[in-house]
Amino acid sequence: MQSDLSKTHHATISWNEQGLPISNQFDDVYFSKGGGLDETRHVFLQQNQLEKRFSRLKPRQSFVIAETGFGTGLNFLATCQLWNQVRQCNGNSQNSRLHYIAVEKYPLSLPDMQRAMSLWPELKPWADALLAHYTGLHLSGFQFFQFKDNIDLTLIIDDAIDGLRHLQQSEHTALSAANFAGVDAWFLDGFAPSKNPDMWQPALFETLANLSHTNTTLGTFTTAGVVKKGLTNSGFSISKNPGFGHKREQLSAQYVPQPKPSLDSFNLSSRRSEEPIPWPVDFVNRHRVECHEQLPARIAIIGAGVAGCHTAAALAKRGIRVTVFDREARCAQGASGNPQGIVYGKLSKDNDGLAQFNLASLLFAQQHYAPFFADPEIGQACGVVQLATAPAAQKQLPLLHELFAHAQNFMRFLDYDEMQAVTGISFRSTSDSSQDNQSKTGIYFPRLGWLAPPKVCEALLSHPLIEFCGNMSLDCLDYITEEDQWSLTFRSGKRAQFSHVVIANANDCRLLPQTSHLPCKPIRGQVSVSPTAIIPELKAVICGEGYIAPANALGQQTFGATFCQSNLSLECTSLDHQENLSHIKKAAKGLNNIDDEVLLTLSGRAALRCTTTDYLPIVGPAPNERDFCETFALLGKNAHCSIPKTGPYLPGLFINVGHGSRGLAYSPLSAQILAAQMCQTPLPVSQDIATALNPARFLIRDLIRNKR
Ligand code: SAM
Repeated sequence: MQSDLSKTHHATISWNEQGLPISNQFDDVYFSKGGGLDETRHVFLQQNQLEKRFSRLKPRQSFVIAETGFGTGLNFLATCQLWNQVRQCNGNSQNSRLHYIAVEKYPLSLPDMQRAMSLWPELKPWADALLAHYTGLHLSGFQFFQFKDNIDLTLIIDDAIDGLRHLQQSEHTALSAANFAGVDAWFLDGFAPSKNPDMWQPALFETLANLSHTNTTLGTFTTAGVVKKGLTNSGFSISKNPGFGHKREQLSAQYVPQPKPSLDSFNLSSRRSEEPIPWPVDFVNRHRVECHEQLPARIAIIGAGVAGCHTAAALAKRGIRVTVFDREARCAQGASGNPQGIVYGKLSKDNDGLAQFNLASLLFAQQHYAPFFADPEIGQACGVVQLATAPAAQKQLPLLHELFAHAQNFMRFLDYDEMQAVTGISFRSTSDSSQDNQSKTGIYFPRLGWLAPPKVCEALLSHPLIEFCGNMSLDCLDYITEEDQWSLTFRSGKRAQFSHVVIANANDCRLLPQTSHLPCKPIRGQVSVSPTAIIPELKAVICGEGYIAPANALGQQTFGATFCQSNLSLECTSLDHQENLSHIKKAAKGLNNIDDEVLLTLSGRAALRCTTTDYLPIVGPAPNERDFCETFALLGKNAHCSIPKTGPYLPGLFINVGHGSRGLAYSPLSAQILAAQMCQTPLPVSQDIATALNPARFLIRDLIRNKR
């Protein structure tokens, strides 16, 4: 189930004389010539009785639709329209949410998507919202979008069978259910089985069944024998209904839960097993939130930096009451306190969790921060140029170029002249040969930029369901079994109780017994702040060995930052200011002649980043350290042994720390992952990525290496 940062192909489309898209890959039409929108409503919305089901949702309840073949997004847009109409009839106040999951093997390029969507003027508001953030990126993996009216879209670029499997809790035979409460309605689209036999396989129908629950329904346009047989064999009860237009019939179906093998039928054995150990599966918390209605009532978040504040906002948006505690009087006083931070993440050609998470985070951050960037007091989407001058970075460039060439509204590759045009700074050096000048040496993210993290945090906390409590230093965290509650005791002697707690206090998590095992390491970073712009002509952020941002609304310009493990003092040093200055001077010819006199005017800020050994943040449920080590002790004998046990996690305790210097980029997506895990709704990332971020990964690695 390993997902790759690998290239798929765009849909190759011909436009017929009526202006409708035809797939060259499948030689089939995307939608009916006789009114695609009406057909969508007839086949998918009505067969799944969506109008009635949407109108019956309780406040804070979620509804999950999953589709095979996102195509032009027509089904999605029509669903958004219906969702909006039902909300307007019922009053917009309810916090119910629509989660739409779509899998697509051949995503449309941005121009094709724009052209297809222009065919539906009445869907324009939703089409525009999607097009504003649709990159046309054709790399396998999850892309996550959020729209107004509480609509979330998870677009999985992959083959339908493989992509949908990334929504399963585990590859273990006994744990193939969804890693959320399950799909409520399926839109079984995809080209006709005769034109696309590879998709309509028994494995597809099995996967649909795995991800379904008692009330799951399904609608499809086809009545082909292979579909009827596949659905029936996997536990769906099918009905034929009158088809749309000239089509005589179509199918609807209802899932009838089937008996599944239980974990107990598997043996514990030190012998090699093909079944993975389901340690990331989190049953304790699933039991506490068995159905949509039982969302956490009140959640405490410890730590009001970007990680904690984003988590609070993500939960409040789902209608959950949150209290954020911080030992400081105000939010963002730790590593999130710099006046200008960069939304920065490093793209990589690699297929690992880090590369996938970086990409997914940056894509989501780009849309999430759009309203923040619109306020010049908070930040600026001035663009970020990442220099790839080091030999290793240079080597990656052609490969990155191949992977990302089509996603121009996400990133571009620039040569020196182009970098000068976007930054206002010269990059040529007198020794450059003409060939060097033409090579692409920078990666440019046109829609990213800098943000003032304290202002971002303040904005995130200003939600009626969020209470901020400053000057509250957490002393003890105790689980009261009889009450199924966490008791929080603060240094002041104050106490509070919550059913759920999120630890988002960076390196301080090591001070709590429940999270002291996490291998977080503080790394000191000092930024330098000039009271007046030293490079007023700078138009975009430049990131090389250090970074420099364009001046903020007050005319201040921030650059930095140092990395130091040995000195953990929060005092600024002039040596560090010198280091920051020398790094930015090296970055570009136009920065080279900054006068050293500026050193006399600089102020700055030193803080401790919270870093991890594998550079990924720690996001997810908190493991019960002792029980985990006992349960999975056999791993010390054989890393591939059979342990048919799910991970013992502490009920209702979650973690969101370890963002290093990428808190601004990583926090928005991490918060969505946590909110989804706590509310049992679809994750914005694959289960593989959720596992790569799982706080228990370090215990598992230690057990394998016999370090516990
Ligand atoms: N639902 C779409 C809409 O609203 O525009 C139309 C879907 S179109 C008829 C079928 C889609 O299924 C195409 O976009 C095609 O690329 C996609 N598809 C075909 N085979 C697939 C597969 N094996 N996995 C994922 N998507 C597939």
